[in-house]
Amino acid sequence: MQVAIDGPAGSGKSSVCKIVAEKYSLTYIDTGAMYRSIAWLSVHFGEDNLAAKAENTEFILEDNGRKISIKYNGKIYDLTKEIRTPEISSKVAFVAADSDIRKILVKKQQFYAEGSDVIMEGRDITTVVLPNADIKIFLTASPEERAKRRFKEWEGIDKASEYTKVLEEIKKRDEMDMTRKESPLLQSEDAVLLDTTGLSLEQVADKIGEMIISYKHNH
Ligand code: C5P
Repeated sequence: MQVAIDGPAGSGKSSVCKIVAEKYSLTYIDTGAMYRSIAWLSVHFGEDNLAAKAENTEFILEDNGRKISIKYNGKIYDLTKEIRTPEISSKVAFVAADSDIRKILVKKQQFYAEGSDVIMEGRDITTVVLPNADIKIFLTASPEERAKRRFKEWEGIDKASEYTKVLEEIKKRDEMDMTRKESPLLQSEDAVLLDTTGLSLEQVADKIGEMIISYKHNH
């Protein structure tokens, strides 16, 4: 079974996916973490030939989204924390706008999903990566609520002073993700819209759980 979820930054995708993955024995694939890892590579190993670097990167996704490492040039780097910094967050949308990098990551994502029960989230999963997924969902929430959620998970910032910055960063990144030429973030016609504003993670997970149960019942 394939569950595909798209939505803007902070809509609750990753937290909800972790819960649903555990409850329904699905493998969770966080594709944003893969784009973030390439942004990290560009910071540490240079921006030149980034697509070739992406091709030569092996992603090691463990513990249902709680740990991500990469194998690059024979070395393993644990990027779980490193890819959540403001520096990477502000860089990643530029990396994700590169069509060569997208092609390479999409291929890897499709390979990971092949023949297994997965819940995969990102910006182009329902439209490009898994267009034939069994369940397709577009998750959203108000920008303010999304900023609050992201604010909580950012690492390495002075939390007292940065809320407005996070809100601005989210709006800017969404704007870039929605208006880029290559696989922009959009709600596909056959995706179910789920607005999570004011809902708890468990409530959202329950709604997705109901869709999974209903799908299994009918197949
Ligand atoms: O999901 P997350 O906010 O970690 O994603 C980081 C960035 O990676 C997004 O803002 C977007 O630019 C890019 N991305 C993408 N396509 C995906 C997943 C993420 O372009 N499938």
